[in-house]
Amino acid sequence: MPRQILVTAALPYVNGHIHLGHLVEYIQADIWVRFQRMRGNHVAFICADDTHGTATMIRARQEGRSEQQIMAEMSEAHQQDFAEFGVQFSYYGSTDSASNKALVGEIWSALRAAKDAAGAAIVAERDVTQLYDPKAGSFLADRFVKGTCPKCKSPDQYGDSCDKCASTFSPTDLIDPVSTLSGAKPELRSAKHYFVRLEPFRAFLKEWTRSNGADGTATLQPEIANWLHGTFLSDELRDWDVSRPAPYFGFEIPDAPGNYFYVWVDAPVGYLASLTDACTAGKVAGTPRQWWPKTGDAGYADQAVEVHHFIGKDITYFHTLFWPAMLKAAGYKLPTQVHIHGFLTVDGEKMSKSKGTFIRARTYLDAALDPAYLRYYFASKLNSKVEDIDLNLTEFADKVNSDVVGKVVNLASRTAKFVPTLTTTYPEDGGLFATAAKESDAIAEAFASCDYNGALRRIMALADRANEFVEARAPWALKKDPAKAAELAATCTVSLNLFRQLCIYLAPVLPGLAQKAGELLNASCSSWNDAAKPVLGITLAPFQHLVARLDPVKVQAMVDASKVESPAPATPTPAAVVDDGAALSAEPLAGTIAFEDFAKVDLRVARIISAEEVPKAKKILKLTVTLGSDDRRTVFAGIKSAYGDPTKLVGRLIVIVANLAAKPMSFGTSEGMAIAAGPGGSEIFLLSPDSGAKPGQRIH
Ligand SMILES: [Zn+2]
Repeated sequence: MPRQILVTAALPYVNGHIHLGHLVEYIQADIWVRFQRMRGNHVAFICADDTHGTATMIRARQEGRSEQQIMAEMSEAHQQDFAEFGVQFSYYGSTDSASNKALVGEIWSALRAAKDAAGAAIVAERDVTQLYDPKAGSFLADRFVKGTCPKCKSPDQYGDSCDKCASTFSPTDLIDPVSTLSGAKPELRSAKHYFVRLEPFRAFLKEWTRSNGADGTATLQPEIANWLHGTFLSDELRDWDVSRPAPYFGFEIPDAPGNYFYVWVDAPVGYLASLTDACTAGKVAGTPRQWWPKTGDAGYADQAVEVHHFIGKDITYFHTLFWPAMLKAAGYKLPTQVHIHGFLTVDGEKMSKSKGTFIRARTYLDAALDPAYLRYYFASKLNSKVEDIDLNLTEFADKVNSDVVGKVVNLASRTAKFVPTLTTTYPEDGGLFATAAKESDAIAEAFASCDYNGALRRIMALADRANEFVEARAPWALKKDPAKAAELAATCTVSLNLFRQLCIYLAPVLPGLAQKAGELLNASCSSWNDAAKPVLGITLAPFQHLVARLDPVKVQAMVDASKVESPAPATPTPAAVVDDGAALSAEPLAGTIAFEDFAKVDLRVARIISAEEVPKAKKILKLTVTLGSDDRRTVFAGIKSAYGDPTKLVGRLIVIVANLAAKPMSFGTSEGMAIAAGPGGSEIFLLSPDSGAKPGQRIH
């Protein structure tokens, strides 16, 4: 009976582009999915953009765009990157969807109704003091506070977790906190928050984190289970703060207006929502409840209905404590397995923008490097343990060239052009084909347990033996002697069948190569069992190029390109690039000035840290801007008719004339002039620099 397997990969955050560090996971998950499908199992592979949280809101403000514009643009970029690396999702959704809102509501209702053994509610409400940025006029979400880790004392850590010791905490626990919005020292203010009490789930979590599936496979890798038991589950579990006060980009809590679900509530629910949308769109056959059953559904107790998560070690806590507790409370089937991988280092170090080793997926593709190289290299490094893997850029080229090109592709390129057809009976090959067929189970076992390194080592050992055979028979010499035509045909038949067998075993990693092998030999390479039998008597298709050698020059070009890359500039909207000439004729150019005249005007980048209406002034907004450090100024700007909601301006970078004489006005003194285009009314457009510019920088 085929298994029915739902696979998810972590949802990439909408605020950043996919880089090679992300790709470790998506390639790892994609290989596993392709492998399971080759084994005849039914697999749905689900992902989505993780959209909510303060970061999206702030970026929208800074870029003067809506969250929806940012989400649409980033989703398209993410999906394009994944597709080009051969990561083939059944469906790619968004956490900002109607289905997710409904599912979060459903799970929230279940949590609200839940009681512990003593009859006390699982959800608690209490006032908490939270960090508040007095300059920006906003409560500070975890990622907008940086400071020193309270546990290991590492500096420069975000307010929710430490990337050095992996402990999680609350932003108020940080030592010497600083607001990343304005650089201000945050102050404490009180607001009501909602908490999910995890302690009542502790007995359940202790058991679940040590549980095994039907086939004896552990739900969690042993080192993860040990870490959870040693670090968290041996003590009382802290309550989980699941709400954030407005302003926050996310779902408003249905029974608590003005409060929003913390992004980590709706992000994992996004797996369920994306599955739901996949079924609705017909991208996944069946109903969501058939893939992810609830108590009482037919599949709930069925071991062949499985849910598998692939995640990085940094989000272990969310997926192995919070998430199973939420699923348990709402009656959903618990994850069958959570596959956790380590981080990617490049040349032995953390990825670094200045060294050019913080490499985006797009930069890799732009360097004309074949994505198959990276899939192979990552696979060769991945095992079932939670270890960091290193991309050694020199070894990368060597390994791909020696294994994929030198050992596998060579078998075909050295023999396919010598014969038009394969022999009709399989020639004597010293047991090579039969031996490789017998390796099928061991290789499959390695893929199934995510030990891709082990699988590739076995496959390459088979490739070595195949190459020894071809070397010994020397078909290029046989070709010169017409009397040896039969021996040449036999040699090529063996070599090409061994090549095909290897390509089938490699198909989860190198699907493109397997497809080309299938086309060359007019035979299927898409099912695991295809490796059990040779193909005979067929006419070869014309030999086409399979995989090129990896040129190290391209690797260097990729590193160089990564060094100069700055954060993505905002893409102009279609409306912004329309040029109708009307504006120029409405206001003709001013008279020519000398450069010295221009140089007198000191234009600076400034960040808006507060924006408010001025009583009785119909057109004016009062902006408080900073030029960095302590230079704060009040600027009165006649932009109210175009910027109705002044709070949306907070955080934005604008351009001001910084050396204009201060101008006393009836409501205060203006200490600068904001630069804007447009005739007025609703058509006033503040100027912003591309992202990356810093407050205080002069505009030349
Ligand atoms: Zn720490």
